[in-house]
Amino acid sequence: MTKLGFTTRQVHADRMLNAPEHGGVHTSTSNSVLFEFNDAQGIIDAFQGKRAAHVYSRSSSPSVAALQNMLNDLEGGAGALCFATGMAAISSALFALLKAGDHIIVSQYLFGNTRSFFDTIVDFGVQVTYADVTDISEVMDAYQPNTKGVYTETVANPVTQVADLRAIGQFCNEKGILFMVDNTMTPPPMLYAKDFKASLIFCSLTKYIAGHGNVLGGAVIDTGEFNWQTFSNIKPGYQVEDVTQWGLTQIKKKGLRDLGATLAPQSATAIALGMETLALRISRSQHNALQLATFLDNHPKVAKVFYPGIADHPQHFLAREYLNDGYGAILSFDLIEGADPVAFLNEMKLVICATHLGDNRTLALPVAPTIYFENSAEDREKMGISDTMLRISVGIEDTADLIVDFESALATV
Ligand SMILES: *Cc1c(COP(=O)(O)O)cnc(C)c1O
Repeated sequence: MTKLGFTTRQVHADRMLNAPEHGGVHTSTSNSVLFEFNDAQGIIDAFQGKRAAHVYSRSSSPSVAALQNMLNDLEGGAGALCFATGMAAISSALFALLKAGDHIIVSQYLFGNTRSFFDTIVDFGVQVTYADVTDISEVMDAYQPNTKGVYTETVANPVTQVADLRAIGQFCNEKGILFMVDNTMTPPPMLYAKDFKASLIFCSLTKYIAGHGNVLGGAVIDTGEFNWQTFSNIKPGYQVEDVTQWGLTQIKKKGLRDLGATLAPQSATAIALGMETLALRISRSQHNALQLATFLDNHPKVAKVFYPGIADHPQHFLAREYLNDGYGAILSFDLIEGADPVAFLNEMKLVICATHLGDNRTLALPVAPTIYFENSAEDREKMGISDTMLRISVGIEDTADLIVDFESALATV
C-alpha cells in the first residue's frame, strides 16, 4: 500500500496498529489493575523482562499501550510512554534520567510550570543554564563538560518565540547530548521534531492531541535518533539488548513505575478519540489564528501582536521553514497604552476567559497576573512578557464569529 495520508492514518491507526479484540475499530477501555498468569513461570519472566506482558497497570495496561503505539506512530519514534499529565511526563522523565552534578541547557522561554519544575531539579543538584534558544550561539556558549542535554519548546507560549531547532539539533548531535523537545504547541502534522534530530519528544496530550478539554495526559516519545550508549546515567539493569530502548526503559522503571503518575485507561480512550481529528482541527485553528492575527495587527486599538505568521515577527522565516501549513494557533497581543486588558476581556461574548490552550474553543488569558504571577518582573521581562499581554489560543469556531467578537470588544476599549 502507498504511504497513507495523515488523517487516513489517524482514523485507522488504532485498528491497524493494535488489532482490537472482537474486530473493534477502537481499543476498548480496560480497567483491570492486575493481570492473571496461568503459568507461574510467565509472571517470573514478565518481572525479569524476558517476556513482554502487562503485570500491574501502574506500569502498563492495554488501553494505555494502544495509545502509546499510536503516539509513537504519529511522531515516527522508537517507542512512547504515557503519563497522567504533560507535567508528569516531563518531571518523571527528567528525574529518571538526570542526577545531581549533571548540567542541562534550558530554553529561557518556557511554559510556566515547566520553568517552575526546573527550579525543583536545581534544588536536587542538577545545574541549569537558561539560554535564548532563538540564538544558537547562546546555546553553544552554555555548553560545559558535564552538559547532558538541551531542553526546549518548539514555539514558546505566550510570546511565540521559535527555537532554532535545526541548529540546536545539529549541535546536540555533534556533542552527543540529548535534545529534548516539548512539541505540545506544534504537534504533527504541524511539526515533526524528529526531523530536527530531537532525541526525546515531550507532549501534553491535554492540549491539541485531545483537543476537547475533557482529559489530562502526557507523553514522552523516543525518536530513536539518540545513541544511549553515550549517556552515562543508564543503569546497567536497564541496558537492554535493543539500545534504542535504554532511555525509555529507565524512564518507565524510575519515572513511571516509581513515581507513579500513570495515565488512567479511561483517559487513554478519551485522548485517542480526540486524536482522530488532529489534522482537521489544527488546520482550522491555524487558519483562524492567521486571520485573527492579521485583523488585530491592523487594528488601531492594538499596540503589538506576537504571532510567527506576521512578517515582522523576529523568527518569521524560521517558522516558515519549520512549520507546515501555517504558523500555529497561539497568539498574544498588547492593547494600546492606557487600555485596560481586564475590562476588554470582560466584553468578550464568545471567547472564553480561561487558562489552557489547544482547545476547540477560543480562549483568552491575561498572562502576567495569572500563569506568570509567581515569576519576578525581571524574569517576565527576560521572557518578553509585558504586564498587559493577552494570550489567545485560537479554536476551530467559524472565523467570522471570532472576528466579530474581537471587533465588538475592541470597540468598547
Ligand atoms: C500545558 C503544557 C504542559 C503541561 O501539560 P499538562 O497536561 O497540563 O500537565 C507542558 N508543556 C507545554 C508547552 C504546555 O503547554
